Amino acid sequence: MRRRVIYSLLAVLMAVIFLINGCTTKASRLTPHEGGKIRIYTTIYPLYDFAVKIAGDKASVQKIVPAGVEVHDFEPSPKLVAGIYDADVFIYLGGSIDPWAEKLAVQLLKEGVTVVKAGEGLFQEELHEDEEGVTEGNGQHLDPHVWLDPILAKTLAERIAEAMAATDGKNEAYYRKNLEDLKKRLDDLDEKYRNSLLSTSKRDFVVNHAAFGYMAKRYNLNQIAISGLSPQQEPSPKKLAELAKLCKERDIRYIMVEAASSSKLAEVLAKETGNKVLVLHPLENLTDEDIRAGKDYFSIMLENLENLKRALNE
Ligand SMILES: [Zn+2]
Repeated sequence: MRRRVIYSLLAVLMAVIFLINGCTTKASRLTPHEGGKIRIYTTIYPLYDFAVKIAGDKASVQKIVPAGVEVHDFEPSPKLVAGIYDADVFIYLGGSIDPWAEKLAVQLLKEGVTVVKAGEGLFQEELHEDEEGVTEGNGQHLDPHVWLDPILAKTLAERIAEAMAATDGKNEAYYRKNLEDLKKRLDDLDEKYRNSLLSTSKRDFVVNHAAFGYMAKRYNLNQIAISGLSPQQEPSPKKLAELAKLCKERDIRYIMVEAASSSKLAEVLAKETGNKVLVLHPLENLTDEDIRAGKDYFSIMLENLENLKRALNE
């Protein structure tokens, strides 16, 4: 008798637990976040900045990779991952820049989150010039840095806006209007790059991190990279010596480095060749200082253009 009571109590308890669980899962999807706004989580900076520009005041956008962190090495903590389950929309690039997001995306999709792999189908093989001056794709790595080409960036923006419109239908017209404004700005940026870069006296530029392949291809330039697709890949002393020789042969006077990550190798090379150092920002992440200064995708792309013009004309 007593045992039967216990069993009944257990059954009730389990039903309650089941109900609570069911409710919380559902509630996080149905309860509107701050004033009915949908919540968007993004991985790298360009996706975040485009989402913010499309969201305006109608959606809240969070960036998962913290400011100042080297994106290629980043892995979110379990606590951070748990927080992402609160998303209505999850936006990642795909490829080697945010590989941790791929698995998470599968889980989020099961929870009913709208998931966007913004770089889907855009990646090409890494194009680089090797020590003998031959441009080739190495067949091993797909280059993730598509956002540095303003035309490919428009596709990223379109996919972000589509997901937001699909998830938050009542603000669809608003998101589409913001997307049109953003695409117009990207077209203007493309025109500025085109006008400034198609007539420079040199075509070759040296960078420490091979992030500018798509940009170089768009404007018919030639990226020569000291490191690989990830800035942590270190070149051999032999490669550094060959790069120094190449700089002399082609009258390359600048080594272009990322502002955020370590540029020791580039500085060593610059010292060896007597070259000067200029910043070319890969826009994978911003520092707190950049954010405080009010920088964004467009302001940094324009700073990059000024420095490129200098490197390619002097
Ligand atoms: Zn990179």
